[in-house]
Amino acid sequence: MDTKLKAFMDGVRLKNPGEDEFLQAVQEVVETVWDFYMENPRYQKAKILDRMIEPERVIMFRVPWVDDKGEVQVNRGFRVEYNSAIGPYKGGLRFHSSVNLSGLKFLGFEQTFKNSLTSLPMGGGKGGSDFNPRGKSDMEIMRFCQSFMCELFRHIGPNTDVPAGDIGVGGREIGYLYGMYKKLRNEFTGVFTGKGREYGGSLIRPEATGYGAIYFVREMLALKGESLKGKTIALSGFGNVAWGAAIKATELGAKVITLSGPDGYIYDPDGISGEKIDYMIELRASNMDVVQPYAEKYGVQFFAGKRPWEQKVDIAIPCAIQNELNEEDARKLIANGCQLIAEASNMGCTAEAANLATKEISFGPGKAVNAGGVAVSGLEMTQNSMRLDWTREEVDAKLNQIMINIHNTCVKFGQEPSGKVNYIKGANIGGFVKVAEAMIAQGLV
Ligand code: GLU
Repeated sequence: MDTKLKAFMDGVRLKNPGEDEFLQAVQEVVETVWDFYMENPRYQKAKILDRMIEPERVIMFRVPWVDDKGEVQVNRGFRVEYNSAIGPYKGGLRFHSSVNLSGLKFLGFEQTFKNSLTSLPMGGGKGGSDFNPRGKSDMEIMRFCQSFMCELFRHIGPNTDVPAGDIGVGGREIGYLYGMYKKLRNEFTGVFTGKGREYGGSLIRPEATGYGAIYFVREMLALKGESLKGKTIALSGFGNVAWGAAIKATELGAKVITLSGPDGYIYDPDGISGEKIDYMIELRASNMDVVQPYAEKYGVQFFAGKRPWEQKVDIAIPCAIQNELNEEDARKLIANGCQLIAEASNMGCTAEAANLATKEISFGPGKAVNAGGVAVSGLEMTQNSMRLDWTREEVDAKLNQIMINIHNTCVKFGQEPSGKVNYIKGANIGGFVKVAEAMIAQGLV
């Protein structure tokens, strides 16, 4: 490794001890943009990388609430306002027991590059809480969301910071959060995306991350002269992202054969299509966080405590959480003939798995592959500002074009002399340039 690069990373590690996920995300970006950075003295002079890895602001707060038994509960709330060089902070809220500052810093950092790639005017941010929605009643969820918003409301706004959903935060939670925001501010604004259709939400937003991921995979295959027709796909997760990906993949002629939850995975060799896809929504809405009932309902195999990467498939798309596919999984997939791994989850693969897949087959990194979700959030903001409502076809066509553009950007910055595309490098440099230029133009702020 370049000695300057090593010294830079040593400095980052010293400053952020124990923040493993954050360090993993930074390392990946720094390694891939380094040569480009070194060729641009303007960036070095302005210390752009040093500034980019530091969030502009971190907000951390207490979230007290009362459960159904009348007992007081206390959670921790966060909003990491990472970078506002190209637009208001934008990114989801995650409610999951694993949420901590390191995780949200990694997600906010990634979001900055992802949002830049969409070419829409959105900065990067991320937030959430270690609150675990699993098994909570509707009223408990509402009380928690209201308490969370009683603090967050003073830090966000339609031109300041626009949160959305992520793991554990779907339409119901956005509704409760938005309702409290509106009451406290006495304003009806587009301060959230992923809103319900009745109060300013965009068509296609729930499906957008999954649809966008499949559009991106379609482009990756097309570059190699192939298509999704007849391909088998392993998906992990069973939430919004997996749901949208299953619909679009099936529509484009592929067969999705796995889904997973914290309890294990199901294997459905006939393909997860039609009413089986709708059943995913029921499963998710049950708030139990398990996929086993799918196996019971449709008479297919369930593998307790395992992940789907041991199955023979053409394409693997992690759709659940970070680092859910490791090097050994990648090896197994490749040995079984898998030709493409694409992250629909954020940093779904470990660094080792991502590098191996980039070298041996094709690998699509999350910040490019899953950018469709936040892209349609950007389109929701546009519709709210214009007081207009676009049709499904209009939103879908824009999403499709944005994913094609992101793919082109990855090829532009990531194509190697052999013709092969290093999508990690392409996405990182592509996302970096716009933010870096905006930061330089705006001076030392
Ligand atoms: N949570 C999603 C992401 O990771 C969407 C964020 C948004 O729509 O603001 O990109």
